[in-house]
Amino acid sequence: MSYQCQVCGAEHDALPEIGAERPDQWFGIPPHERARRVRWNPDTCVIDDTDFFIRGVIRIPLKDQDQDWGLGVWVSQKRENFQTYLDNHRSDTIGPFFGWLCTQIPYYQPSTLFLKTMAHFRGGDLRPDIVVEPTDHPLARAQKDGITLDEAWRILHFYQNQGR
Ligand SMILES: [Zn+2]
Repeated sequence: MSYQCQVCGAEHDALPEIGAERPDQWFGIPPHERARRVRWNPDTCVIDDTDFFIRGVIRIPLKDQDQDWGLGVWVSQKRENFQTYLDNHRSDTIGPFFGWLCTQIPYYQPSTLFLKTMAHFRGGDLRPDIVVEPTDHPLARAQKDGITLDEAWRILHFYQNQGR
């Protein structure tokens, strides 16, 4: 599906999903300390054996489209729930578990950092669905009500331009 972009003027094909490779807290660790203090893989991250993070997907409905749009984000987990996820990472019978959103999506003001979320586990190879607490925050409203394709591309360009 070709799309005439309202932001940059170019013609785009399918809307790429956004994915944060690491929780924002990772960037707060000095590079020379990361090897010692951080254990990371594409799905989980542990900092100092005290802070636990998992990667999931915020799904946002696209208005008037036959699809939704995924934002790959990280949320914190308390130690017990993180361990449960490690022990049952292919199961959809655990959770949902509370977590603070640990990915700032720069388009959104106020910051998306530390919004309250619930992680819903889907089993198999699927990353958990992250559901933002329903509030007046624009990200929460987007997940509840959906956004237009124009807005999705605006968010995407914003995200790409800040270089993570
Ligand atoms: Zn564009």
